[in-house]
Amino acid sequence: MDQKKDIRALSKDQLRDFFISQNDKAFRGNQVYEWLWQKGAHTFEDMSNISKETRKMLTENFVINHIEVDDMQQSNDGTVKNAVKLHDGLVVESVLIPTETRTTACVSSQVGCSLNCTFCATARLKKMRNLNPDEIYDQVHAIDQQSRLYQNHKLSNIVFMGMGEPLLNYANVLKAIDMITSEEGLGMSPRRITISTVGLPKMIKKLADDEVKFNLAVSLHSAIDEVRSKMMPINDTSNLAELMDSLQYWYHKTKRIITFEYVVWKSINDKQKDIDALVDYCKKVPSKVNLIEYNAIEEDGFKQANPKVIENYVRVLENNNITVNVRRSRGKDIDAACGQLANKKV
Ligand code: SAH
Repeated sequence: MDQKKDIRALSKDQLRDFFISQNDKAFRGNQVYEWLWQKGAHTFEDMSNISKETRKMLTENFVINHIEVDDMQQSNDGTVKNAVKLHDGLVVESVLIPTETRTTACVSSQVGCSLNCTFCATARLKKMRNLNPDEIYDQVHAIDQQSRLYQNHKLSNIVFMGMGEPLLNYANVLKAIDMITSEEGLGMSPRRITISTVGLPKMIKKLADDEVKFNLAVSLHSAIDEVRSKMMPINDTSNLAELMDSLQYWYHKTKRIITFEYVVWKSINDKQKDIDALVDYCKKVPSKVNLIEYNAIEEDGFKQANPKVIENYVRVLENNNITVNVRRSRGKDIDAACGQLANKKV
């Protein structure tokens, strides 16, 4: 059977040209484009202001590879985890995280992950493929609808902290963000979007050169190379000095401060020297620190540090005028918390 083309791979201009080639009006392209993106149509049948014949012609030529939320679990803290089924049957996860003032969507950028961070559940799945721009966009669109339904307000923030490494799917992630921020998509402000990365210096510099308007978070977890390499193998390829060089480049170009994500583990990074190294690292570039609660994944041997150590981290960072937040875990009871996304059904 002929593989029909995914209609959302077409730009608006290409869609307008397609309608002209069909002896129809270019304007029809605008209408269909609006259905595909802003209105999130799952099928051509949904397009109620498009004639029956046109819908039939579209069905003969194209498919809409829309995601389907296959399963939805709600945590007792209001967090919602979606198992998102892709057109080829693969599954990723997305999470809606409500607070009193905002709703954040945590979305995936790849199916699985190739980076092998020792403490992360997604690393246990091998990387299967990159998500397409529309598959990333659809996760956000679906959570926006859930937010309107359950929270009575629209989605306010997006973090790329789901499955995968967004900077290893650079072009598709940026295309998706373009659509999310466009008035023809969801019209969200890029200031409310954060990409989280293991820290790939070349790609961080590329982001800066591309003058992106969203925020950058880096999973640091240690400011000592030997310690970081044990937790994050990527550190053997790009060490802390190279990472810092790219972060200074980012700041110089964008003037936006960097968030460091940092888990404090028992016997790994809970000594004074670990704190001192973090302070020194943070002083090299305008930055703040999010101390993330550790979410244990099956017998991996890692334990969250003693609360006294975390208090000490906070005190020392604050004494050095570095902003620090302690991030409590959300959605733990449904395996929706940071590092727990690894669909158990696949
Ligand atoms: N690849 C990107 C985004 C996905 S991970 C990145 O590494 O940043 C999102 C965040 O969850 C990262 O900060 C990651 O270090 C953190 N994380 C992974 N496993 C975790 C766990 N078990 N407990 C707490 N945080 C975890």
